[in-house]
Order: sequence, then structure tokens, then C-alpha cells
Amino acid sequence: MNQLADRLSRISEPQTIKMAKLSRELKAQGIDIVDLSIGEPDFDTPAHIREAAKKAIDEGFTHYTPVAGIAELKQAVVHKFKRDNGLDYTPEQIVVSTGAKQCLANAVLSIVNPGDEVIIPTPYWVTYSEQVSLCQGEVVFVPCSIENNYKITPAQLEAAITPKTRLFMFSSPCNPTGSVYSKAELEGLAAVFAKHPQIFIISDEIYEYINYVGKHESIAQFGDLINRTIIINGLSKGFAMTGWRLGFMAAPLDIAKACDKIQSQFTSATCSITQRAAVTALTGDLSTAEAMVAEFKKRRAFIHEALKSIPGLKVNDPEGAFYMFPDVSAFFNKSFEDSHIKGADDLCMYLLHKANVSAVTGVAFQQPNCIRLSYATSMDKLEKGVERMKTWLAKLA
Ligand code: PLP
Repeated sequence: MNQLADRLSRISEPQTIKMAKLSRELKAQGIDIVDLSIGEPDFDTPAHIREAAKKAIDEGFTHYTPVAGIAELKQAVVHKFKRDNGLDYTPEQIVVSTGAKQCLANAVLSIVNPGDEVIIPTPYWVTYSEQVSLCQGEVVFVPCSIENNYKITPAQLEAAITPKTRLFMFSSPCNPTGSVYSKAELEGLAAVFAKHPQIFIISDEIYEYINYVGKHESIAQFGDLINRTIIINGLSKGFAMTGWRLGFMAAPLDIAKACDKIQSQFTSATCSITQRAAVTALTGDLSTAEAMVAEFKKRRAFIHEALKSIPGLKVNDPEGAFYMFPDVSAFFNKSFEDSHIKGADDLCMYLLHKANVSAVTGVAFQQPNCIRLSYATSMDKLEKGVERMKTWLAKLA
């Protein structure tokens, strides 16, 4: 007898987490895996942020806090949106959660009714569609091409909208492609949304600081979109704080209140100590975060050139985040000894078991011609990983 609720059949475990698990298992067996599957900075959390957490513990700041976050932190988030994005919010519009992932879940649960259509440009971050499916929403994928650096165009957006469209979800900078929407591109999308006032937008900006092309732009800056955009952000990527679990959103007041209500029944507030550390992260010195981004930029330059030198790979040009998303379809239907590559899944397994390099299949992100390679790892490992890939891909014929 199947004892699980029906909703479980609508979702699956993220491929990103599956691959990380598999890599860990092989490493535990003593195999020297170069792990390019990871989605987290390999740096330590900056010292001044760690100190703030230690102080919170020593001061006994270890109890429940208000569900949507302590007043000091909400004020720090309001300050961040003004400083970085020129956006004005009140503290009541801010909800702090256990990671950006929970912010996304709160927002989707607050907005999507069964049968509502949710437009997601692909490739996209795996979790969006699963959360929509859990709410019995209908996901409408819009495939974006490498020629447009995997970004949706206004014409594609317009064509996907129907009277049932309730929500549009995307990330910029994007996981898995690293693409960054420019001001002009966001203005183009905003002009389409202006014609469809029933649509909400979830703008996932968790990679905001990891941007190599200049100033980050948020879609909420354009037209009237601040009134129907939920900006999702957090500390995991920009401050190397994945384990601390802190995300935040800025939303129209009724949505923020709804998210507070949902969170109050699921998890309550995130960790009190993390919240104190977050105040320091958001209001303090950004130079350690900037130094981390400078290092990512060097690695990006290296891996971009190195991948371009591997025959058969079609390499995209990421402008943010810490992922490369090469098209590997030239290797499909090729073989080496007992390995036959039917698609990106097989290629990832081949790379893992033969080259001992772990990557994530593009199938997970709705782009089956690609694989995702994270460069959030040391230069030594990147050099070794790319060299191994080159050797083993060359054997496929
Ligand atoms: N959004 C995107 C695009 C991500 O890549 C991730 C993490 O990989 C998240 C959200 C979740 O971040 P958090 O650690 O804050 O839950």
C-alpha cells in the first residue's frame, strides 16, 4: 500500500542534491573527485559576521523571535534595498525566513491556486517548478536559447501569457546559466507585464552580489512592478553563509502578511543567532564579500577560456553567479568502451566515474543539451577538473 500523500508524486528530489550526495559517497570511498556540482561558495563566512553570532550566543540571544524576523534585521533589510537597489520598503513588507528556499515556498503558497499557470523561463533553478506543482499550479516552461544567453525575450513572454497566468518566476543572475538581465532587458519584460496587471513576479536575486558586468538591476525598479514583485534574496551566496539559513523577501504588504502567516505554521522564525549575524552582514563592511567576488571573477575567466578549448563544447558567456552551462550535445550518441552517451545524464555519469569530475545534468534544469559546472572551488581543482574533462571527452567517438 502506498502510504504517502498524493502530493509526493508531484515532486522529486533535486538533481543538484542527488549529485552532491553521490560525489560525497565516492569521496568517502577514497576516490579523488573534483566536485564541480556544488552550489555554494568555498569561502568561510567573513570573520566580523561570525563574531556577531558568537556575541549573540554569549548575550543569551537564543530564544524565539518574531516570526518574520527581529525588528533590527528587518530595518537592515530595508536599508539594504534602499542602498543597493534604490527601492523603498517598510519593515512590514519584509519577511525573513530559513533560507531563500523557504521565502520562495512562502511566496508560491501565498499566490498560486490549483490550476493557476506559472511561467518559468528555462533553464531555471530546479526548485521553482516543484514548489508550484506542490500547490497544484500548472508550470508553463518557456525554453530560452543559448543565442540569447538563455534569457526570455518580451515576445516569448507575451506569447506564453494566458488569462490563467498568475505568476512569473525567474532568477537574475541565473542559476544554472549565470545569465544576468540588463536594465534594458528588464524594461522590455516590464512593458509586457504592464499590459497584464493580474500577474505577480517572483524575482530571485540571491546571486545579486556575484555579478561581473556592473550594477545589479531588479525588475521591481520598473513601471509599477514594485506593487506586484516579490524580491527574494539571502545571505547564502553573497556572504558564504549557506549553512546559517537566512533568506529574506520584500513584497507587497498583503503578500508579506500572508507569508508571515504561513511561516508561523511551518517553522516560525529562523535562528535567532543567525539573525543577529545577518544584521552585521547587511549593514557592515562589504569588502570581504567583494574580495570573494573578485576571486570568482578570476576563476570564471579561467574556466570560460579552458572550456572553450575543449573540442565539442559549446560554451555560454555567464555574467554572474558561479556556474558555467556548456552545451554538450556534440557528445551524444558517442561511446568509449562500455560507456554509451545517450544524453546529458549519461555524460555526467561518465565524467563522474571515468574522469572523477562531478557535474549536474542539464536535464534537471530543463535544458537536456547542457551540463552545469560550478566554479565555486579552488583554482587548483578547476585546473585539474578541466584537464580531466578534456582527456575523457576526447576518448568519446
Ligand atoms: N535561489 C537560487 C537561484 C539558488 O541557486 C539557491 C540555492 O542554490 C536558492 C535560491 C536557495 O538559497 P538558500 O540557501 O538561501 O535557501
